[in-house]
Amino acid sequence: MTTASAGELLYEGKAKKLYATEDGDRLLVRYKDEATAYNGEKHAMIPGKSRLNHEISSLLFSVLEAKGVSTHFIERLSDKEQLVRKVTIIPLEVVVRNVTAGSFAKRFGQEEGIVLPFSVVDFHVKDDALGDPLATDDQLLVLQYAGKGELETLKQRALEVNDILKEYFADKGITLIDFKLEFGYTEAGELIVADEISPDTCRLWDQKTNEKLDKDVFRRDLGSLPETYEKLYKRLTEGK
Ligand code: ADP
Ligand code: UDP
Repeated sequence: MTTASAGELLYEGKAKKLYATEDGDRLLVRYKDEATAYNGEKHAMIPGKSRLNHEISSLLFSVLEAKGVSTHFIERLSDKEQLVRKVTIIPLEVVVRNVTAGSFAKRFGQEEGIVLPFSVVDFHVKDDALGDPLATDDQLLVLQYAGKGELETLKQRALEVNDILKEYFADKGITLIDFKLEFGYTEAGELIVADEISPDTCRLWDQKTNEKLDKDVFRRDLGSLPETYEKLYKRLTEGK
């Protein structure tokens, strides 16, 4: 167990605060009790959300690490804080989809819930002012968001993460519909999975009932977010 304490606040985003630690290569992350949707248009304070996203994200990063995927996660420090490796974030949201939902269903006029014949990876530029636009490989290359080999590596890594998480959730009776990843480079140049993996960034449906166990309950006013996240956390940790 490492001891690390929060130093200077380096960044405050919509969902998390990042603090410096005594070690320049490591950051302390505190999740926030705040929920936003539709690019910040919908906004609410939700007590308890930070703890649940912190715990679920820690758990999912540990699942990936155990399967040999390099992530920024080092350890959970308390029920509020986690220690991560500092990276330079690639400003892309890498989305993997197994089943139609959300913006994909809307854009292509599809019903939600149709199982795709193969998993699809799409890239969105991380830019709130532009509404995180979907971008083709050529658009990303010409605008120099990434190189050709880098895009291939990101797709391959994202699909690898998908295989692991899909199986992990399926074991708990949950379907991984889609999710978003962020990647970054460590000081030593290693490409690793960063940011968070939580019900804020994944769509998760009960296999039998299709009940939503993710942020869509907040986006679409379908029920209580903390109760939903607590239910998900219990299913992951206690199998109920
Ligand atoms: P946003 O910036 O979209 O409001 P958050 O509140 O989740 O989102 O803020 C966390 C920020 O920290 C994100 O911009 C994310 O890209 C960045 N980040 C995540 N993990 C790391 C890391 N290991 N090192 C540096 N930056 C990170
Ligand atoms: N997602 C995310 N952050 C974003 C946008 C999307 O974590 O800024 C996640 C979202 O929770 C879902 C997946 O990425 O699991 C695909 O989202 P989609 O493109 O369908 O967008 P949305 O419907 O959320 O606008």
